[in-house]
Amino acid sequence: MQETVNKKILIVEDSRLQVQILRDILSRNGYEVETVMTGKEAIEKVRRGEIFDLILMDIELRRGMDGIQTSKVLQKLADIPIVFITAHTEKETVEKIRKATGYGFVLKNAGENVLISAVEMALRLYGANSLAKFYRKIIENSLNEIYIFHTKTLNFLAVNRGALKNIGYTEKELKTMTPLDINSVLDLEAFRNLIDPLLKGEREFCVFNTVHRRKDGSSYPVDVYLQIVEHRSQKVFVAVAIDLTEKKRIERKLKERQAFLDAIVNSAHDAIVMLDNQGKVTFWNPAAERIFGYLREEVIGKELHRLIVPSDEYYKRYKKALPHFQLTGEGENIGKTVELIARHKDGHVFDIELSLSALRIDDTWHAVGIARDITERKKTEELAYRLSITDPLTNAYNRRFFTQMLKQELKRAGRTGLPFSVIMVDLDHFKRVNDRFGHAAGDLVLKSLVDMIKGRIRKTDCLARWGGEEFVILLPDTPVDKAAGLAEELREHLSLMDIPGIGRVTASFGVAGYRPGDTVDTLLKKADDMMYVAKAAGRNCVRYI
Ligand code: GH3
Ligand code: MG
Ligand code: MG
Repeated sequence: MQETVNKKILIVEDSRLQVQILRDILSRNGYEVETVMTGKEAIEKVRRGEIFDLILMDIELRRGMDGIQTSKVLQKLADIPIVFITAHTEKETVEKIRKATGYGFVLKNAGENVLISAVEMALRLYGANSLAKFYRKIIENSLNEIYIFHTKTLNFLAVNRGALKNIGYTEKELKTMTPLDINSVLDLEAFRNLIDPLLKGEREFCVFNTVHRRKDGSSYPVDVYLQIVEHRSQKVFVAVAIDLTEKKRIERKLKERQAFLDAIVNSAHDAIVMLDNQGKVTFWNPAAERIFGYLREEVIGKELHRLIVPSDEYYKRYKKALPHFQLTGEGENIGKTVELIARHKDGHVFDIELSLSALRIDDTWHAVGIARDITERKKTEELAYRLSITDPLTNAYNRRFFTQMLKQELKRAGRTGLPFSVIMVDLDHFKRVNDRFGHAAGDLVLKSLVDMIKGRIRKTDCLARWGGEEFVILLPDTPVDKAAGLAEELREHLSLMDIPGIGRVTASFGVAGYRPGDTVDTLLKKADDMMYVAKAAGRNCVRYI
């Protein structure tokens, strides 16, 4: 691209003849040319932002500023190479030119070749200079610290801005110092050992880790990259130092975080487990060892579900869902807390609560599981549930549970048309028992009655304490005559029982069979009514409807 664009030259010259000559030569040689007659005009153009690759400047401008003055102003405005044109070669003029710019001069009417070669040389020199400036800028602005020092005296020759800023010394101060003055760990001998192989040409560079000390006395760790650079047969050391403070700080933070995580994971009461996207164990904490019975080294790399899932069905479901998880990190139990059955290494199964989440590592989905052995909790829950549905004195079910069961049975019967019945039992003259033998004896009677009935009904039947000395029995799949038969059996058995310290007691039984349209209330009322009929009939008997 650049080759095809003509270089643009501004001629500042007040002789029309000279302008004509210069313009002809330059145009003939492929340059684009603009001309102005005064320094002021030239300055105007540059100030307006017009771009020129080179300026040919007449020194002896007669109007306004002369060429030297103009060039001084121009140099402040823009970085453009200026080549002077002059008719004079007196020492004085040449001296002035030398001071003004580094691009020299051409004599007027020196001929085409001289002019063109002066222009070309100036352009080439400018190119080289600007590249050098560019490199220097990069080094100056490098965030790394760059120190250049003498191979013999070790004195600093130059340091970049990054170094000055961090080390705190001025460039002038550093000129009288050596790397040892800013190092808080190396002595001369140790330093010599590092640089000698470079000086002898045995090594091209060396890298070492050390500590720099700032002017204010504080220090910072650095990685130093040191080499010898040769320039015009003069050798210098160039050291690039990288301040590791931030890196060390991050490393320390990471270590702290790691220690924090280790502490959590190792002391956690719950199993913390990580699986890769194949379902193989990559992490297994001490609680996992305790809960599942497998040591870390026994499970790492193994497919966890094979080891601890007792249900074939669950395992199959997991296998089926795995490809979807591998692709998306989603799954049935991901992001949830679920209760599952797990198998211990010794074979016994137990309840766990598992919280699962997905984690993306190195572009694949992993799963993190936190599992808790909830055997005890399950036991407690079961106990609490049992307590909530049983009567504490007799261990029969309570009224609330019975009502629930009865509602279900009513629904079922409504659906299937199958018969069922309820029996209401009330101890006869129980007040007398209490009065005669005391309340504790009365309690014993209640318990004995419940134990006796429990021993004679089916597992699917439901015996509950309705209140006081009144009990109800729900008998699914039982027509009323069969239920009355059972009631008669119970009545007889009770009447023959000898209760220690009390002797004999009796009860009256009311039985009702389900009829379509019955509700909890109507059915229980019928049984209750029948029980009162039995009482009225002289007690210790069964009546049914
Ligand atoms: P009836 O034959 O007419 O049923 O006479 P009864 O004495 O059994 O009936 P009543 O309703 O007059 O008395 C019931 C008695 O049951 C009164 C009460 O002290 C006793 N009772 C109720 N609950 C308990 C209990 O939990 N323990 C004991 N020991 N007695 C109870
Ligand atoms: Mg009663
Ligand atoms: Mg009674």
